[in-house]
Amino acid sequence: MNWSERHQNVVWPPFTQVQTADQPLVITRAKDALLFDENGTSYIDCNSSWWVNVHGHGHPHIQQAIHQQFGELDHVLLAGVTHPKVIELSERVLAILPEHFSKVFFSDNGSTAVEVALKMAMQYWHNKSIKKTRVLAMEGAYHGDTFGAMSVGQRGYFFEPFEHLFFDADYLPFPTSSNEHEVLQKAEQLFETGEFAAIILEPLVQGSAGMQMYSASILDQLMKLAQDHDVLIIFDEVMTGWGRTGKLFAMDHCTLKPDIVCLSKGLTGGVLPLGLTVATESIFQAFLDDATTKALLHGHSYTGNALACAAACASLDIFDQPATHAAIERISTRHQDFRKKMEHQFQDQLVLRQTGTILAIEFPSSEGYFSELKQRAMRYFIAHGMYLRPLGNVIFLNPPYCITDEQLEHCYRRLEAFIELEWA
Ligand code: PMP
Repeated sequence: MNWSERHQNVVWPPFTQVQTADQPLVITRAKDALLFDENGTSYIDCNSSWWVNVHGHGHPHIQQAIHQQFGELDHVLLAGVTHPKVIELSERVLAILPEHFSKVFFSDNGSTAVEVALKMAMQYWHNKSIKKTRVLAMEGAYHGDTFGAMSVGQRGYFFEPFEHLFFDADYLPFPTSSNEHEVLQKAEQLFETGEFAAIILEPLVQGSAGMQMYSASILDQLMKLAQDHDVLIIFDEVMTGWGRTGKLFAMDHCTLKPDIVCLSKGLTGGVLPLGLTVATESIFQAFLDDATTKALLHGHSYTGNALACAAACASLDIFDQPATHAAIERISTRHQDFRKKMEHQFQDQLVLRQTGTILAIEFPSSEGYFSELKQRAMRYFIAHGMYLRPLGNVIFLNPPYCITDEQLEHCYRRLEAFIELEWA
């Protein structure tokens, strides 16, 4: 039996209808922006392996950091015990976030980082004996696959079998250039009830919704309303963090800042799972009491794993280098040029969106995420040395920052050829 057959015998893959899916690619090696299959054929990792691999695969600095950490301390629990890497990482993350952030809570991935943020927000008001229990989210949102995260995600899509178990959430329409007034009015009306504990948003870009983008200005206006009504603001920067929007964090495009931020994906350079939920001092203070029940009684076996923390610190070292920011700038500019070219060439036929290193091309479809274009596109790009996973009818690039100009050029040429093929 080959690897594919053995895989099919024993692996239950994520987000996959196995009955209709193609056989998986068997990747045995990866370096920089390239994935290599068992025959040595290379594929550009166009979506950074589920949007996590920001510096490229096998980065020697991250490799060395993990190796060194393993020789010192692999893992230890984080309750009643601490270790230098968890402290170093917390200090360094706080140093690059706005000043009012003061405490870092550790978990394992994006969903758990969101789960923790929601629990923090709920318990914050509970501990203060103030009855604020509702959460406001945005239509199209995706915050992860655990129950709390699903409860504030877009309903009636992936989550239907579980919805009877979700807590209630309210939703704002997705902001466009023509409905800002409606969005703000709805937020204000809901906040006026005094019942809202928090608003949770994917700032600037809703990833899973198809890289849907909205402005920093409406985000600032929503934050102002939340602040005026004493509603905690949670930014889910799991996808937008670590340079994706052109700046280190999406919140760096805004004037006002959130109270809680969720980070994951690119945090470790995309090599080990780790989630952070970062909160302000005033939120943290609400959990201090003689009563243990007022503490945030949440944790995971691997909370603060030393290897993941070492990888994250090494990733931060790479972000400290100007070359990383120059690469982000280079990709952003090239994406922008390609977007303009395509918009000119395929006016009215396609919708293109771009923010920082994210470039999305939306093909017309009534089926959205369930569009057959996805499988067609995946086969086409695999045949042309690119691995990308469209969000239904939305094909997008968010490559590792080490992608070369030549590799980018290859992607653009193939994207253009695919568009032409679709229209032929
Ligand atoms: N929030 C956002 C904005 C995401 O894009 C994702 C994952 N795509 C998550 C949360 C969940 O992260 P994870 O898959 O690591 O649980």
